[in-house]
Amino acid sequence: MSEPLVIVGNGMAAARLVEELSKTALGRYAIAVIGEEPRLAYNRVLLSSVLAGEVGSHEIELKAASWWRERGVTLKYGTRVTEIDVGRRELKIENDESIAFSKLVLATGSLPIRLNVPGVELAGVHTFRDSRDADILLALAAQKKRVVVVGGGLLGLEAAYGLARAGAPVTLVHLMDRLMERQLDPPAAALLKSLVERKGIEVLLNANTARIDGDGKVEAVELADGRRIAAEAVIFAAGIRPNIALAKEGGLAVNRGIVIDDQMQSSAPDIFALGECAEHRGTCYGLVEPAHEQARVLARHLAGATASYQGSVVATNLKVSGVSVFSAGDYIGADGSEAIVLKDFRRGIYKKLVIAEGRLTGAVLIGDTQDALWYRDLIRAREQIAPIRTEMMFGRARPKAA
Ligand SMILES: Cc1cc2nc3c(=O)[nH]c(=O)nc-3n(C[C@H](O)[C@H](O)[C@H](O)COP(=O)(O)OP(=O)(O)OC[C@H]3O[C@@H](n4cnc5c(N)ncnc54)[C@H](O)[C@@H]3O)c2cc1C
Repeated sequence: MSEPLVIVGNGMAAARLVEELSKTALGRYAIAVIGEEPRLAYNRVLLSSVLAGEVGSHEIELKAASWWRERGVTLKYGTRVTEIDVGRRELKIENDESIAFSKLVLATGSLPIRLNVPGVELAGVHTFRDSRDADILLALAAQKKRVVVVGGGLLGLEAAYGLARAGAPVTLVHLMDRLMERQLDPPAAALLKSLVERKGIEVLLNANTARIDGDGKVEAVELADGRRIAAEAVIFAAGIRPNIALAKEGGLAVNRGIVIDDQMQSSAPDIFALGECAEHRGTCYGLVEPAHEQARVLARHLAGATASYQGSVVATNLKVSGVSVFSAGDYIGADGSEAIVLKDFRRGIYKKLVIAEGRLTGAVLIGDTQDALWYRDLIRAREQIAPIRTEMMFGRARPKAA
């Protein structure tokens, strides 16, 4: 008889795990997926495109209902798991129902952080994490509401771009002195800022949100330096934290995320975690690629094969507010490293390659990212780059003119 395997969370990591399991362990498990969101798993990354009006919300589902059915997966969505009883190997769900498991996988993702400032409870304060949030933001834009987006990382830029494209006047406020400071060096961030401003988004740096003013609903955002920005809505895009409540209350070991080993196992036998809720060797990842790599390893492990996750070398390779951006490895350039830089700000292009001990150790690209994956692979391979050093900036070998 198939062993009951329950996955909590119907997000991107869960969907990829089921896909991998269906290749490696078909029939071995009776899989049930329980997800809080009231719809089939979708590509969360594409919420930015939904907001920008490039794709409809109904078009971003990862798999059709028939795909799940054909693999015999029991899907419960719109259903929150409220408790894990580790000893009895049982889950409680919202309506007091219990579900037994033999193996359990937690794929509960992250929660958006709302800054703890006065006014955070006012009507008109939102976050950008799921498709319900995207619907709210689309409605704000349709009504041309004045919006302040708090946070100049990837998510904040995407929210600002989508809202601006849909017609809302947008101000983006960022605490730091440059945008995407965890992926971009100062010149790259300055170029991105000017490209974003060209799209009609006002960007305020060194902007510390002190309070949100309003009588029942948002009327303005006040910064610590006294600046006041009139607004009818505020979107917090100031970071995420792994969603660990269920694991913590169930007595599993947690730090920032649910602590897992190289087989994705938590501190309890037969209970695993993956994706944004998990912490592997002290790192919680906030991107899709590590979640996919973890899903592959966990599926192999659950299929009885030897598999071990060694961590991911993350690269950021995306369109941010319509601008192509890539960043990987040591993008600043540690002591003892050197950088090859190409700047063409008029055309919106910046490229920086960081070299240390004869190896490519980091890269930042703005505007032209066609060789991004090649650079990423070079960084991962840690090979000596002396033979290609002079040509490397121009990308993977191009056919030479006769
Ligand atoms: C707008 C946006 C743009 C992004 N762009 C990029 C990008 O360009 N590139 C990139 O790599 N990453 C991007 N990301 C991040 C990416 O979406 C995440 O890394 C990925 O979704 C993580 O997958 P996950 O399965 O761990 O979590 P999620 O996809 O968040 O899934 C977790 C699911 O678990 C459910 N859940 C939580 N608790 C419970 C419970 N108790 N009971 C039942 N269900 C529960 C949640 O409702 C959720 O549906 C973006 C994210 C957003 C929001």
